[in-house]
Amino acid sequence: MRCRSDCTVSGMNAYQIIGKKRDGQSLLKEEIDFLVRGFSEGSVPDYQMSAFLMAVFFRGMGLDETLSLTRAMMNSGKVLDLKKIDGIKVDKHSTGGVGDKVSIVLAPLVAAAGVRVPMVSGRTLGHTGGTLDKLESIPGLRTVLTPEEFVRNVERVGFSIAAQSRELVPADEGMYALRGVTGTVESVPLIVSSILSKKFAAGIDAIVFDVKCGRGAFMPELSRAEELAGELVRVTSLMGKTGTALITDMEQPLGNAIGNALEIKESLQCLKGEGPADLLAVTLELGIEMLRLAGVETDRDRARESLEKLLSSGAAQQKFVQFVQAQGGDPRVIDEPSLLPASASVEVVVAPCDGYIKSIDARALGEICVDMGGGRRKRNDSVDGSVGIVLKAKVGDTVSKGAEVAEVHLRRDRSTVWIADLFNRLEQVFVFSEGPVPRRELILRRLPPQGPVRNS
Ligand code: URA
Repeated sequence: MRCRSDCTVSGMNAYQIIGKKRDGQSLLKEEIDFLVRGFSEGSVPDYQMSAFLMAVFFRGMGLDETLSLTRAMMNSGKVLDLKKIDGIKVDKHSTGGVGDKVSIVLAPLVAAAGVRVPMVSGRTLGHTGGTLDKLESIPGLRTVLTPEEFVRNVERVGFSIAAQSRELVPADEGMYALRGVTGTVESVPLIVSSILSKKFAAGIDAIVFDVKCGRGAFMPELSRAEELAGELVRVTSLMGKTGTALITDMEQPLGNAIGNALEIKESLQCLKGEGPADLLAVTLELGIEMLRLAGVETDRDRARESLEKLLSSGAAQQKFVQFVQAQGGDPRVIDEPSLLPASASVEVVVAPCDGYIKSIDARALGEICVDMGGGRRKRNDSVDGSVGIVLKAKVGDTVSKGAEVAEVHLRRDRSTVWIADLFNRLEQVFVFSEGPVPRRELILRRLPPQGPVRNS
């Protein structure tokens, strides 16, 4: 049914529902359905949805409301049935970070181990990068697929990474974009419903959550990251699926590259087993959990060994080639990364003293990358695939005065004043110490699986 936002269905209207949430009351399933359906159909405009998101941000939601919101968003489009594809379909989703390119390495790696990975991902959100924007820097590669194409790729290639679309979770497409530009990202119910609506619509059986914690994450404090991880796993099991979560460090960026094409380059190295140690370590830990959920390998050490072999043998890279071909991309980028978009100008940030790197502010780097053109400040902003930052040192590394700590990939059209301001900001991102600094722990917490035990 189509109606204007000021008309009522059984006495409901968007204005009253927003007001109810603003005043801290719980919403009924029917009210949440009404709002989400209206937004997907176009009868609830962006400004009312933005007000609703802000009300949820401040007032929160109970478990029942989060479940209703997840279901309403999932049902805004098609819900795929992957039963005809053999095996347990397993996915992983990150709650968002800076330099987090894990999905691009992990999906082909786990698919090479024989697990089907149907992955519906997100775009850049606030200061964090998005898998889809990164992948779209590969010439020709499409992430907006029809449901049929998505299912076919999962079946034939073993995995697919695709966007929400008009057919798949359309409500999340719009709500996600609005959250990114209205200061309403950091909300447990909004993150949970956004992630899970996509995952359940994609037909998964089980999922590993990579809940990021630290300055570059939406949940900087461990207690908030634990709350988010707990809610993700709880709602997953209430939906009849199996979920588990790792809480991982996002105080400094993951890996060295931040920026769309730069992150693809780093992922390609990682698929050859050569990427940065922290990126490889987090990818393997999440991969182990995926193999365990899929019932392919229950022993952690054996799972790690088999994933490492799939990287060193080139099998994971080969899966990635198949994926790029299946989604219309140019597979030559795998051997010729110079085909990816590249910036016209590269500058460097240097250490001001001898010493150790004490901290690198991931959030500030994410914000800088957005301002360089790598992310969005407004809903319809385009994203520049070429810009970004490559770290040359990480927390705990020694540096000597004048040594490069970061490479900055810029557009050539920036003014000298703009560049001077950028470098002022970049210099504040790095904190140095005279004495040694311990390396950061990567895996901060593990939540055991919840939900039905499955047999493939
Ligand atoms: N990833 C999503 O898909 N949604 C969020 O809200 C955060 C991370």
